[in-house]
Amino acid sequence: MKYIFVTGGVVSSLGKGLAGASLGTLLEHRGLRVTLQKLDPYLNVDPGTMNPLQHGEVYVLADGAETDLDLGHYERFTKCTLTRENNLTSGQVYETVLSNERRGDYLGKTVQVIPHITDEIKRRIRSFEQVGNVDVLITEIGGTTGDIEGLPFLEAIRQFILQVGHENAILLHVTLVPYIKAAGELKTKPTQQSVAKLREIGLQPEVLICRTEKPLELEVREKLSLYCNVPVDAVIEARDVDNSIYEFPLMLQAEGLDEKVCKLLRLETPPADMERWKKIVHSIVHPSRRVKVAVVGKYVELQDAYKSIYEALCHAGGANDCGVDLEIVDAEDIERDGAGKHLGGVTGILVPGGFGDRGTEGKIAAARFARENRIPYFGICLGMQIATIEFARNVCGLAGANSTEFDPATPHPVIALLDEQKKVTGKGGTMRLGSWPALLQPGSLAQKIYGHTEIAERHRHRYEFNGDYREQMEARGFVISGTSPDGTLVEIIEYSDHPWFIAVQFHPEFLSKPEAPHPLFREFIRASMR
Ligand code: GLN
Repeated sequence: MKYIFVTGGVVSSLGKGLAGASLGTLLEHRGLRVTLQKLDPYLNVDPGTMNPLQHGEVYVLADGAETDLDLGHYERFTKCTLTRENNLTSGQVYETVLSNERRGDYLGKTVQVIPHITDEIKRRIRSFEQVGNVDVLITEIGGTTGDIEGLPFLEAIRQFILQVGHENAILLHVTLVPYIKAAGELKTKPTQQSVAKLREIGLQPEVLICRTEKPLELEVREKLSLYCNVPVDAVIEARDVDNSIYEFPLMLQAEGLDEKVCKLLRLETPPADMERWKKIVHSIVHPSRRVKVAVVGKYVELQDAYKSIYEALCHAGGANDCGVDLEIVDAEDIERDGAGKHLGGVTGILVPGGFGDRGTEGKIAAARFARENRIPYFGICLGMQIATIEFARNVCGLAGANSTEFDPATPHPVIALLDEQKKVTGKGGTMRLGSWPALLQPGSLAQKIYGHTEIAERHRHRYEFNGDYREQMEARGFVISGTSPDGTLVEIIEYSDHPWFIAVQFHPEFLSKPEAPHPLFREFIRASMR
């Protein structure tokens, strides 16, 4: 197996995850079997308990792991299906080491960061060798070089590279080369300093990926090469992409990144054939028409909070030769101004997942606006619960209907805790999580869209549709078109008297890729175009 480590320097948010994912795409298109792993230095065991405004979206894997949103990039850019092994946090490392210690595994030794923490990190990097079907592991280290909390990871990598040899493991450093307007120049000093920081701890990057807004002229490349101690052909320009993140692999390929990496790792493969990828990017970047779709949420100020949803909408646009202009609407603005003011100009309304009652009344008003004005509505997880509450209140006349999450004393708990959740007290990793099968009602809109009756989708919720209300709601045109195989849990609802109203208890956005857009997103955009 070959190993590629990706670190970041100078500032955060340089797109290390995207760089790793894009390299993954290129290596896969060279015929290699790739997997990607993220090491996060924070102490949370996983990001599942973190506020989306702090951390961005929590990305859920098929096995139910709640992970960093970079794993979403990894799955979208490659064919791999990741597992909880692919996201390691300091919290997990310490949890394991401490429980080993309590069991007496260290036989009386003093337990220390080096070697015990670093050994555990190396064990988790090596764990893919046993799986046996991976040629290249790309491991991204979260945070920025120089962070104290990242040091054990970097030390583990230093040891690891030494042990497996430089022809089997390399380090890519993603860095910023800022353009200083007043000087009219690109500045290499921050990169020099961040590479010096790596060298201080015994790490020498083989490749520099330089984020920049201007082209890297030869002179700048030579300077970076000389002072950072990397050959000039290993200084890779990564200019800000104007249109779509899916252009990133193409840009890195043009810079020769995958060629260079394969040479360093002694991997002999044909060049990557990116023709199909190029076509997909073209359809995303140059659509022949556009639609405006609203996403009504509460974590609206942070671009990353609904990452996978925005990406899935982008894939769906590509599939329909249609650009998707997003109107990101704060549900609390709807509460204040009414739905018409914010949703008047859109032809599709999406209500994404969420927790807690802030903004829910605004989302309920949005669902009502979509139902009454026959605008395509796509509800995801909380978005399904919202639609259910709205329908119960305004179509079935169940005044005060609500979810017990928002109003424990509601007279009509149309959404209530899952049975299995009633005894749960801990918050971490305790929701209904991961991929679960569902059966679709033959002839329903959902079944027609999927094209079959059995599906599996990823979940992350504690509350569900309350079956006590099933009959009276169905009598008014509320269609339950997907359920768990035993029929007890409602997975999909739609309205018989509406051109396109679908809401799902799961998260289809986690299964959409540019090369394979999710059918529900694809058809939502198609309906919005109509
Ligand atoms: N808060 C809701 C629940 O726990 C919805 C969760 C979500 O949208 N992911 O069921």
